[in-house]
Amino acid sequence: MRAWKEEHPSRRAVGAFPVYVPTELIQAAGALPIWLYGGGGSVEISHADSRIQSFVCSISRSTLELGLRGHLDVLDGLVFPSICDVARNLSGVWARNFPRMFVEFLHLPQNRRSPSAVPYTIAEYRRLLAGLERLCGKPVAPEDLRAAIHAHNENREAAWALLDARRRTPWATDAWETYAFLRAGAVLERETHTSLLRQALAAARERGRRPKDKVPVILLGAFCEQPPLDLIRAVEEAGCYILEDDLLLGSRWFRTSIPDGADPLRALAEAYVASSPPSSVSHYRGTPKQDLLPQRCRQLGASGVVFLTAKFCEPALYDQVLYKERLESAQIPYVHIEFEEKMSAVDTVRTQIETFVESVLFE
Ligand code: SF4
Repeated sequence: MRAWKEEHPSRRAVGAFPVYVPTELIQAAGALPIWLYGGGGSVEISHADSRIQSFVCSISRSTLELGLRGHLDVLDGLVFPSICDVARNLSGVWARNFPRMFVEFLHLPQNRRSPSAVPYTIAEYRRLLAGLERLCGKPVAPEDLRAAIHAHNENREAAWALLDARRRTPWATDAWETYAFLRAGAVLERETHTSLLRQALAAARERGRRPKDKVPVILLGAFCEQPPLDLIRAVEEAGCYILEDDLLLGSRWFRTSIPDGADPLRALAEAYVASSPPSSVSHYRGTPKQDLLPQRCRQLGASGVVFLTAKFCEPALYDQVLYKERLESAQIPYVHIEFEEKMSAVDTVRTQIETFVESVLFE
């Protein structure tokens, strides 16, 4: 981020807290959108505990700690979406502690079945865009938004191409590798990141790796706070092929391209209302997500589900109850691991996953 700011001294950088923020608006305003995923275990929490409860998820505490220690002073703004009470509280704490920073809490519609959902989302996006225009000192023209939507469409397409390739041939690319490639996009311009993803896909195709006798699984629950990289590796090394996951969900939120036609702001709002994926942080308007999970396991040929949920993450933990019930009635095995950013017990998790893998293989 610092290198980019030095290269572009007149431009702004605006952070986006997970899970989903329409970063197209940030790019259209001329700023660099940065996804913030907390401190990832690299920061000792000391200052943040005096501002926010110690019994909340690691990402909220470590993000605040990074800010209070000055590591995020390169950011000119930060957008929090309405995902949970913790994010709501954090946005208020942030606004008080960083009064010179542009801080917005984006109210995404919860009831996406309502006929008011699209007009409401457009109004909310306009409000955010107006703030970004003031921050960046220029009005956003429809062509700016179209260009940003186009760049994001290409970026999501490249991300999905890599993920789809992993789903079809999980031995060619490890999940921790695709995760690292996608995660790099958090601090890169979309166009640069898209090119990196395409190179990664081409390189994966040339690898010539052979399939191993591993258990294919779906990994669920880490849509906001991200597990340590070692933990993702441990799941794979313990004998799983991760066919699908919800890591970094917001950065690849839409499966299909958003039309960048006559009214791009409306198109962006309509896409959120009509095409958002099922997630624990917004009401889903299609088949209940707990019913979709056994269906998805069958479609993919997944033999089980690994739940990786952040400690104290209420949206993820509430959904566990629903998911587990459905998996049990469908007789699909699962294992549930709770993680935090700074965790030393990766070997214990590896053993747990190995036991799970054996139970699936030898049942
Ligand atoms: S990890 Fe869970 S509780 Fe924490 S901010 Fe994200 S959604 Fe909210």
